[in-house]
Amino acid sequence: MSISFDQKMWVAGEWLEAEETIEVFDPGTNECIAVVPSATAEDMNRALSSAEQGAKVAEKLSVHDRMDILHKVADDLEKNKEEFATIIATEGSKTINEARGEAARTAETIRISAEEARRLNGETISFDQSPGNKNRFGYYFRFPVGVVAAITPFNDPLNLVAHKIGPAIAAGNAVILKPAAYTPLSALRLTKSFIDAGLPKHVLNTVTGRGREIGNPLVESPSVRMVSFTGGLSTGEAIAKKAGLKKLAMELGSNSPVLVFDDANVEAAAEACVSGAFAAAGQNCLGVQRIYVQSKSHDEFKKIVIQKTSELKTGNKMEESTDVGPLITEKEAERVEDWIQEAVEHGAQIVAGGKRRGTFLEPTVLVNVPPHATIAQEEVFGPVVLLDTFQTYDEAIKKANNVNFGLQAGIFTSDVNLAVQATRDLHVGGVMVNDSTDFRVDAMPFGGVKGSGIGREGVRASIEEMSEPRVVCFNIDQP
Ligand code: NAP
Repeated sequence: MSISFDQKMWVAGEWLEAEETIEVFDPGTNECIAVVPSATAEDMNRALSSAEQGAKVAEKLSVHDRMDILHKVADDLEKNKEEFATIIATEGSKTINEARGEAARTAETIRISAEEARRLNGETISFDQSPGNKNRFGYYFRFPVGVVAAITPFNDPLNLVAHKIGPAIAAGNAVILKPAAYTPLSALRLTKSFIDAGLPKHVLNTVTGRGREIGNPLVESPSVRMVSFTGGLSTGEAIAKKAGLKKLAMELGSNSPVLVFDDANVEAAAEACVSGAFAAAGQNCLGVQRIYVQSKSHDEFKKIVIQKTSELKTGNKMEESTDVGPLITEKEAERVEDWIQEAVEHGAQIVAGGKRRGTFLEPTVLVNVPPHATIAQEEVFGPVVLLDTFQTYDEAIKKANNVNFGLQAGIFTSDVNLAVQATRDLHVGGVMVNDSTDFRVDAMPFGGVKGSGIGREGVRASIEEMSEPRVVCFNIDQP
């Protein structure tokens, strides 16, 4: 299946070109697979005017119409799942198996959005609970925020786009989507699904371009009432400063910890951690980065992790037997290699992997990494996992929390009391008991604390964030 080379962006109800273009590369082969328009600030202003019109149309779409459009998009995703998977795997880092998983989940995200649209409810309010309000009654209902700016990263180029457009439309908003410049093709294909499903013009604008050029006009615009961003911490912080007084949803990164206690099933924990660390070549916001194993189990756990890591096959994304694809660019692969090197210079040892060939980096396991090393503090966003040990529960929790991120944590134990205590003590948005951090279903509230973000995604949570309560109070004469 080949990808059409010349692509256009969807602005103001038309497929448009721009004077400048952006080349889209397959990071596995370094081949240019398509060119997309590189929008200017002027193009973005056109999208903003269009979205203002679109917001008026979207809020008037009946819930039935919203559901109908979203169900049709989900149908298209299911019918053409192989096409979507091929686009994901070609423009991004994922293997074809991983891409198939993402395409299937995207259909689910859109289907859940359709279903949640019917639950956009309010509730009655007993105004007469305060003295002097005997004649008052009323309720609140939820109304759309208006125009949502949706800015998405490269690593889940389809499902994370769906996580913004689906709930935004379910809640009755217009959307301006700015997909990652490395991976705009999945987003453009999904845009086509929405048009084919009958989404009225102006409700969705998909503007391809570079964040550093069209980001500011988008997030600073007073027409935009909410910025829903998924990406890196530094970009998120820059956007938050520029956006001013608007709703913000910030889905940022992490360097997620897993705690393995002596009473756990060590084999199952090791297997889950290897899968959680190296899925999508480690370019996964909830990927496992730091593993802490209680002292008695440490050696056995380490042996299994090394064994399972060395069995992973890195290479051609399109082969079904491949486990690990490339990093998104060679520059990114070099950065991860530099971080490994820095840790080694400070005393760490590589016990599996470590070699790089272009954009491909072997899945790598490090031990004895000093806590101040960059790779122990920051988000590596590559196929590297750190293995460390602990003696006591308090030490484990302290190590897990001792970073500026808090998206998800995993804990392996057969002691339910300890597990419950850990769910209270870990400073994160989600705790997975007897699973690695790499677990998510698209309906659950998902997001982090500290440098991992603000707010929650996950369809229902997003619909709440993308709508506001409006209170209605009737003051009527009663006999
Ligand atoms: P990124 O570099 O922060 O880029 C994300 C998006 O922001 C891209 O569309 C980018 O556009 C745009 N952007 C860049 N500068 C901008 C600006 N000044 N104004 C507005 N938009 C701007 O992130 P990435 O490398 O694509 O993605 C990896 C990061 O995403 C990791 O940190 C990962 O953990 C995080 N992530 C978080 C979640 C979550 O749900 N918590 C999920 C997935 C990924 P260009 O592509 O044109 O630069």
